[in-house]
Amino acid sequence: MSEAVVERVAAATPGPPRLEWQVATVVSVQQETPRARTLVLDVPQWPGHRAGQHVDVRLVAEDGYQAQRSYSIASAPAERTVALTVERLDDGEVSPYLCGVLQPADGVEVRGPIGGYFVWEVAQGGPLLLVAGGSGIVPLMAMLRHHARADVSARAAVPVRLLYSARTLDDVIYRAELEKLADPPQVEVVLTLTRDAPPAWSGYRRRVDRAMLEAVSWPSSAAPHVYVCGPTSLVESVATLLVDLGHEASRVRTERFGPTA
Ligand SMILES: Cc1cc2nc3c(=O)[nH]c(=O)nc-3n(C[C@H](O)[C@H](O)[C@H](O)COP(=O)(O)OP(=O)(O)OC[C@H]3O[C@@H](n4cnc5c(N)ncnc54)[C@H](O)[C@@H]3O)c2cc1C
Repeated sequence: MSEAVVERVAAATPGPPRLEWQVATVVSVQQETPRARTLVLDVPQWPGHRAGQHVDVRLVAEDGYQAQRSYSIASAPAERTVALTVERLDDGEVSPYLCGVLQPADGVEVRGPIGGYFVWEVAQGGPLLLVAGGSGIVPLMAMLRHHARADVSARAAVPVRLLYSARTLDDVIYRAELEKLADPPQVEVVLTLTRDAPPAWSGYRRRVDRAMLEAVSWPSSAAPHVYVCGPTSLVESVATLLVDLGHEASRVRTERFGPTA
């Protein structure tokens, strides 16, 4: 079935209220990096989503104890399945389960899609500047996948740059897909490695700072749409620097995933 048909069917099929819990089935899992794994979920009554939205995931133990966390949707809006990419925090309650225990055919409770602010659609236009730290790449990947699926003229009208900060090259989530997007360039991808870089690495080797943002971003006069996502400290510092550089605060959208990575 073509994507257009799938989208029409999805739009015509009445779904549950968006914030009702549903049991999703894990269709497949894919190890993205040593610490991050993608779960592809079949959500029976998925109403469709916008790039940048997230879901809540709820785990319920046999004794009734519950833990709930938010995870961004990595898949493009046109996809029939919902992909989440979770980075394992060793002392975490939920992420080690999602990254290690959950297997294909298992069920997991989700509700969503959630969020109407940190979203982007090709129709909004560009330029589009994306800044990610660590697993903050996930909702930005949904935007990149949405952009990649747009028709050629819509895509050409929206230049995209991604600045992605990761600890090491091995921690770069979706690395092969990003390399493909960058060659031939549909998206300008700039990586910065904060902990360790291969000997031949010629890219940035530090945290995102003012000079890096000045070099990578368009000037504020180009009025890019900016989306920043990742650990709280990165998001706050990048957003402040961009506003200092003259970008209108209302064009700099942020999503904080939690404490400093
Ligand atoms: C809107 C939204 C979308 C999110 N999307 C994603 C996503 O796509 N992929 C993803 O991997 N995570 C995402 N997160 C973070 C996720 O919700 C959890 O916070 C994360 O998985 C940790 O949960 P945990 O139960 O394993 O750890 P917890 O048991 O909650 O915490 C364990 C320890 O880690 C610290 N910690 C908690 N969260 C983080 C964090 N994000 N970074 C560093 N340290 C942390 C805690 O302070 C604590 O010390 C998102 C968060 C939000 C608010």
